[in-house]
Amino acid sequence: MCGFVGLIGLENAATGTAMALQALQHRGQDACGIGTVHEGRVHVFKDLGMVTQVFGMGTLASLPGTAAIGHVRYPTVGAGVRDDTQPFHTRRPGVLMAHNGNVTNVPQLESWLRRRGIRVQSQCDVEPIMLVFAEGLRGSGLEHVKDAVRDVFEQVRGAYTCVALCEIEGKDTLIAFRDPYGVRPGVYGSNALGAWAVASESVALDALGFETVGEIPPGSVMLLRPGEPARIEVLRTAQPHRCIFERIYFARPDSKMEDGRIFQVRWDLGRRLGEEWRAKGIEADVVVPVPDTSRPAAQAMAETLGLPFREGFIKNRYSGRTFIMPDARMRQSALRLKLNPIPEILEGKRVILVDDSVVRGTTVKRLAELVRSVKPKEVHLAIFSPPVKNPCFYGIDMPSKDELVAARVPEADWARTFGVDSVTFLSVGGLRATAVTPACMACFDGVYPIPVSADEVAAIVADRRGVSA
Ligand code: SF4
Repeated sequence: MCGFVGLIGLENAATGTAMALQALQHRGQDACGIGTVHEGRVHVFKDLGMVTQVFGMGTLASLPGTAAIGHVRYPTVGAGVRDDTQPFHTRRPGVLMAHNGNVTNVPQLESWLRRRGIRVQSQCDVEPIMLVFAEGLRGSGLEHVKDAVRDVFEQVRGAYTCVALCEIEGKDTLIAFRDPYGVRPGVYGSNALGAWAVASESVALDALGFETVGEIPPGSVMLLRPGEPARIEVLRTAQPHRCIFERIYFARPDSKMEDGRIFQVRWDLGRRLGEEWRAKGIEADVVVPVPDTSRPAAQAMAETLGLPFREGFIKNRYSGRTFIMPDARMRQSALRLKLNPIPEILEGKRVILVDDSVVRGTTVKRLAELVRSVKPKEVHLAIFSPPVKNPCFYGIDMPSKDELVAARVPEADWARTFGVDSVTFLSVGGLRATAVTPACMACFDGVYPIPVSADEVAAIVADRRGVSA
């Protein structure tokens, strides 16, 4: 889970990139970086922390130029150290690159590169992508770029959307490419002065005042230069499978993807959940969202059921990330610091608590305890996605199967495990009928659109253990 931005043709591109990265901060709070190109020289600054912590005015002033790429990181592989922070840079040929995604065959790429005398230095999987690209870039013409991206599509398995800056035909050029399955998102847009931008989500372009033109087509390479039309070439085709979890949980509700505004997708999922809930015949008094992701779905569900929608929690905007707490009492306090229930909304009521997803089950259990502390009559959990039963190998940080509560605990025990009176998940059929299809829904239905071998799974799981160590 990460976010990227690429900009070309804008004065003080680093400052613009920092603004756009702030709009993508929800995609990763662990580390961030910006690289610029100015008069043939590359300038990079990256560090652990959020965008406003890492990039002050002085740091941004040290990154001159009208072309930049930036990145916010949430580590899915590697130990999350500074050396793994993006963007990455290689000198010969000069390539600056960042990405969002997950490469599933890193060991294979490392040995392919080693046979050519190239060593991968970090645990960040954009580095092998960049090195394969650089190795395939045998000249500085447009055709050379296409050949290099073809090499990446041939060699690199997994899900990835990448942005790079290179000098092509003697001009700084912003390059973007997306794997043929299009699992991870990517959009591009421009402003009235002919500048171009690419980003993980359209909200980053909104923040810059750019018009979103469209998505980076899966299997394509894009070359962007200020004042020139975008060059887009589809190099490899496959049936695209966009990540459904982006729509459910990860992306900002005001972002627009191929299937429309995320807010609307969540609204539609909530309406469908309401219909499925009604078929169960459970009575309730009030629909309450778990802030913030589930708000549109909860509103739609309430409307479908003809029940009042109420905010039952106040979210503390300043609590930041939840720290790892040593015991259950402290963890409960930490959650209460973040979300405080409003007794007048919940007390004595049959409450439908709407949330986006259940992964480990620990958060939902603590939430139920929190609601129960203000004495509702009943607590019913309604989740606007199906149970997560399979890990993700395409860039969303999910635990291994044995940590997924819906895979571990029999369905008959879910309500008791979460401490609620009933649990209703959206059905897989309901998700398919409502959201973009075909899509990657592997974490829900176990159908992985991009093959992942047993060896690749073992390597990814080992890397994740490194993350949580
Ligand atoms: S497995 Fe789930 S989280 Fe991963 S890409 Fe597919 S839908 Fe998204």
